[in-house]
Amino acid sequence: MRISTDCVGCGQCVVCCPSEAISVCGRAVIGDDCTQCGVCIPYCPLGAIREDET
Ligand code: SF4
Ligand code: SF4
Repeated sequence: MRISTDCVGCGQCVVCCPSEAISVCGRAVIGDDCTQCGVCIPYCPLGAIREDET
């Protein structure tokens, strides 16, 4: 998962993550606990969470 520059650090995505992998420090940061489940993607009102481009 990747956080784009559209993120405003609102923190709404933090609570949606079942793995508690998201923290906010100015902008959202996704930690190593992320399982790539994708739950957070539709949760961001700004669409700032994207899947990694491979
Ligand atoms: S990724 Fe979206 S929901 Fe999460 S802090 Fe940034 S703007 Fe808010
Ligand atoms: S993809 Fe799933 S585990 Fe990873 S940050 Fe989003 S909600 Fe959390």
